[in-house]
Amino acid sequence: MTKWLLPREKVLRDPVHNYIHIRNQIILELIDTPEFQRLRRIKQLGTASFTFPGAEHTRFTHSLGVYEITRQICDNFVTNYPSRNHGQDGLWDDNERLVALCAALLHDVGHGAYSHTFEHIFHTNHEAITQQIITDPHTNINRILRQVASDFPQKVASVINHTYPNKQVIQIISSQIDADRMDYLLRDAYNTGTNYGLFDLTRILRVMRPYANGIAFNANGMHAVEDYIISRFQMYQQVYFHPVSRGMEAILTHLLQRAQYLYHHCGFQQQPTLLIPFFEGNFTLTDYLKLDDNVLNSYFVIWQNHPDKILRDLAQRFLNRQPLKSVRFTQYTQKLIPHLQALICQAGWDADYYTAINTSYDLPYDTYNPNNTKAQIEIMLPDETLEELSAVSELVAAISNKKIGDQRFFFPKAMLGRHLTPDDPHYALTQTFRKYLLNDALIDPKII
Ligand code: ZN
Repeated sequence: MTKWLLPREKVLRDPVHNYIHIRNQIILELIDTPEFQRLRRIKQLGTASFTFPGAEHTRFTHSLGVYEITRQICDNFVTNYPSRNHGQDGLWDDNERLVALCAALLHDVGHGAYSHTFEHIFHTNHEAITQQIITDPHTNINRILRQVASDFPQKVASVINHTYPNKQVIQIISSQIDADRMDYLLRDAYNTGTNYGLFDLTRILRVMRPYANGIAFNANGMHAVEDYIISRFQMYQQVYFHPVSRGMEAILTHLLQRAQYLYHHCGFQQQPTLLIPFFEGNFTLTDYLKLDDNVLNSYFVIWQNHPDKILRDLAQRFLNRQPLKSVRFTQYTQKLIPHLQALICQAGWDADYYTAINTSYDLPYDTYNPNNTKAQIEIMLPDETLEELSAVSELVAAISNKKIGDQRFFFPKAMLGRHLTPDDPHYALTQTFRKYLLNDALIDPKII
């Protein structure tokens, strides 16, 4: 692999890893492609910056971070666990380094504008598009990967879709403790200004090791691995599932749905040209790569003056951070939702655009699930036998296979009637609305 080495190492400064070290010409050329540079214009956490104002970081810096962690793992493996026979002995074959580094760098390249929200509405799929960008002969990324070998793009794509024959490479990029998760937890914690996501990366990388069927962690580093699982658990509860970010996501979803409705029913005076292929459900890779968060935001600025009252109002709410409020509900209290919706309609709101239900759940650690492509975490005991993490850690066992998260009903803040006086025509209605929230255990003390 000395063929593609740069004459001198390049470094990029990074707040999480200090330096991103680039030693390979192929990596440098991939970073400089328009497809990869586009990730600078896609925020890593979408609407979370409305809750945590520092969270403006992008898919670009996260992708570089995943590359850097993978590079450090390869360095550790080749120093401490080098294979003498191309990996037949279950140790690390450093010929796998370039495919691992390219897959790490490119694992999120198919993410689109306001990723998850956009995907949900227009049925795009960032994982499929990542593979398409890598394997389509017309992309710059494919052209650069082909310099290595004609089948190299396919190899990189197969790491991302979990079919690559070397399990060590797959698990470095995608398992329950992989370079992707480790980077986003640290980066999201840093940029949100929260401490929940912090864990000892240096220690984890030190105790990580290859074995015949993947990667494992030496038993003396188990507490660092436990700490990582707890960090992830906390980040989901405190950051990723934050109700305000979800209230803004509901506005964004309805805004795009209203625009699609108007396109099909009344049209736009000034056509949102770049969105039309998505409104029509017939888009090409070129159409997809033209979009980013900034393009969408520009349309939202224009739509603030649109003649349609709902589109105009939702655009203003999104740009000026006016989230829908929410209340948690359970299987016992969900029967109240139709009553709340009826009151919202009586107050003159269109329930399709001003209410929403959002369910957000995550498994902090999954011991075994045949449908999950993410491998469980293996601890290597001193006699070199393997034990699955929750079998040796009581702490992890306590949260294993437990879904965390909640279901929420979203509604306009005005329904709380906070500033209404008894002579207001909606006063009685908002009082009834509040009573439902208070009396029937739908209550979330945060909003009342
Ligand atoms: Zn990622």
